[in-house]
Amino acid sequence: MPRVANPLTKVRNRLEACCFGQANFKNLPKDKDKPSDPDEHLNFYRSHVPIQREIVPRVDEALDLACERLGLDRTMVHGFIIKDPAVAAWCVSNIRGNAVVQISSGMVERFTTLEMAFVFGHELGHFLLPTRWLCNRLPNGTPASMEDAAVYRQIEISMDRFGLVACQDVKVAASACLKLESGLGAENVTDDVASFCQLARQGFVEDFTEYVAEAGMAHPSMFTRIQALQNFAESEEYLGLIGQKGGRPHAEVDAAVAGQLQETIERFVLRLMGQLLMETHHHFAAMQALVDGQCEVQRFVVGEMISADVDLVKSALSDISQVPEASRENYIKQRLAFFIRQAVVRCPNQMEIYLTKLLPNLEGTKLKAHVEGFSEDFRSALVKHRSGEAVISNA
Ligand SMILES: [Zn+2]
Repeated sequence: MPRVANPLTKVRNRLEACCFGQANFKNLPKDKDKPSDPDEHLNFYRSHVPIQREIVPRVDEALDLACERLGLDRTMVHGFIIKDPAVAAWCVSNIRGNAVVQISSGMVERFTTLEMAFVFGHELGHFLLPTRWLCNRLPNGTPASMEDAAVYRQIEISMDRFGLVACQDVKVAASACLKLESGLGAENVTDDVASFCQLARQGFVEDFTEYVAEAGMAHPSMFTRIQALQNFAESEEYLGLIGQKGGRPHAEVDAAVAGQLQETIERFVLRLMGQLLMETHHHFAAMQALVDGQCEVQRFVVGEMISADVDLVKSALSDISQVPEASRENYIKQRLAFFIRQAVVRCPNQMEIYLTKLLPNLEGTKLKAHVEGFSEDFRSALVKHRSGEAVISNA
């Protein structure tokens, strides 16, 4: 049988510039578009109002426009209205073969046709650039760790770029973002994104411990998303896609966006991860003083970034020494269990790399067996966490 060309290949090649960070068309698996059931989307017709010209003309026009500008065949795109006053839209990511997008009635009521085209472009981006292979998700769909959430945030930057290609006007995209963020319609919110961004910037305080909840979020702050859109709108590739000439080189734009992410949430997330690794590291060094009778700091030089700070080892050791001897073993166990619980939700990949590098340094020490036990407990806790089980580690 002759091989049938995948109709999405051409679309993807044309939209390559929309990909940002780790999310790109090159690292998708071969069977990415294979439907598990070609009729999987049909049940939505039983329970929702479909987006069709005769029924919801303005929404249909927006979806048509998004498909046309992205280069997607409209017959493979199925849109539905979700009866919900909130402002929201979705792409049903587990359906392949057909793109299934949904938009809330609350969004239809408040968004202009072009703003809806932006939203549909974003959601269709999730179909064009499926990302469930890129990072781990919990069974409830949320990112499995801060590391996974950071990848998700890059993905959402990419999706907004598909949205911009679909609406072809950065002012429209930005006003859609303000409506998304506020939940308000045009009678109550302006499109003054400059004022919004100026005020939003104030919210980024230096105390990184404030960011624990946000570090797990799949979307960057709206302020960062708007800035990223404004940057992409000036790129050569985007201007080329909308038939204009000039613009900034793509690499320069991506570097600016990466820098803006670093200025906001990502810098703090790195510190939250680093804090945990360093606490674990110094606890191990203090444990060596207990189990081997001395702490050999040269064994705790791990890679180029991690070494043992003598004062921090002393402080961890003094924390342990203050606990009455009868409870000390239990205290150490609890500390290790805490590090495991935190590592699975913060930085499982970094912890894995750290342990792999640390263990050979501990050859010939009594501490080695303790770190090996920690390593095993960490891995089984990680499997449990990703399957949705609560991690109760006794380490
Ligand atoms: Zn999205």
